[in-house]
Amino acid sequence: MNLEDVFIKKVVHADHYVRIFIETNPTIQTCPHCGAQTKRIHDYRYQEFKDLPFQMKYTFLVLKKRRYVCTCGKRFTEKYPFLPTYQRRTLRLSYKIIDLLRNLVSIKSVAETMNVSVSTVTRLLDTVNYTTPSLPECLSIDEFKGNTDTGKYQCILTDAKKHRILDILPDRTQSHLSSYFRNIKRAERHRVKFFICDMWMPYVDLARAYLPNATIIIDKYHFIRYVTWAIENVRKRLQKTMPTGLRKYYKRSRKLILTRYKKLREENKKACDLMLLYNDDLRKAHYLKEWFYAICQNEKYSYQRTSFWDWVKTAEKSGIPEFEECAKTYRNWSEGILNAFKYKYTNGPTEGYNNKIKVLKRISFGVRNFKRFRTRIIHCSI
Ligand SMILES: [Zn+2]
Repeated sequence: MNLEDVFIKKVVHADHYVRIFIETNPTIQTCPHCGAQTKRIHDYRYQEFKDLPFQMKYTFLVLKKRRYVCTCGKRFTEKYPFLPTYQRRTLRLSYKIIDLLRNLVSIKSVAETMNVSVSTVTRLLDTVNYTTPSLPECLSIDEFKGNTDTGKYQCILTDAKKHRILDILPDRTQSHLSSYFRNIKRAERHRVKFFICDMWMPYVDLARAYLPNATIIIDKYHFIRYVTWAIENVRKRLQKTMPTGLRKYYKRSRKLILTRYKKLREENKKACDLMLLYNDDLRKAHYLKEWFYAICQNEKYSYQRTSFWDWVKTAEKSGIPEFEECAKTYRNWSEGILNAFKYKYTNGPTEGYNNKIKVLKRISFGVRNFKRFRTRIIHCSI
């Protein structure tokens, strides 16, 4: 049984369950009322407990529970280390349930596997408590659409160096962010050297107020997207006004235009060339996109800094509204973008967690309790 001092009297195998009758040897007991020692048995009663499934069947332990009687006249039940006092399941079953919740599976399926109710599993999840972690040197923040009872967007804090999830915040608004960081000790906040975020102003305000020693870095993925969106919008604008005869060349245009030119196969390069040949705006846009990607992929910061400003100035005068807008955004966020080039930290690992969160959201469909959602995400991540 792998239970201390327990021996099996009988095992009953049914189709869907196993019932194991167990007993323990009598020992000298200390009376909980007067402290005297006794080994006088008063009576026995049978009690049934759920245990870990055995041979894929729901398993019940039927324990012959012993009651003692003391010279003081009081009666008391023997204690068993594998059983909690008020629950009808073994401790190891509870631990196993908590352990199973680390997998990306629904509470309902854990309940079914372990022969307990959904509310039992939920209660066990609620006993898991992850406290606020200490802040790392490189702190990264990102958000995801969690749709919990605390708001539409939840924030995820990660250690950008160790690629570890730190915490989930209830909402990305200024007030929630402030109240979270306000509760962290000053000395700890001052230790943060880098803060990686996207182009959401409250994050920057937060860093300035609470992380005064942190260099603010805009995550690469988040600012590159602006170039991708710009060229996508150029393509859409042009395709709308295009004469039908030309449209056939633009069939797979989205993928051809967005892929790095040098990564295209020869035949696709030709198809791409042909598309760009017909349209000045798209050709310019494509040139700007390729140029910006090249800047991002370069390793040398001094080159990246100079080229970044060349690019912004060129895009601002390009005559293509989508890129003029993009350049304006880059100019506003230039400090954080250049820091991304300089220090090379990204939100990369956070994006990985987002997939895990997506799965958790799907399997906990309809569960909007933020606290539980937070526990579950952290529980599944560490
Ligand atoms: Zn007693």
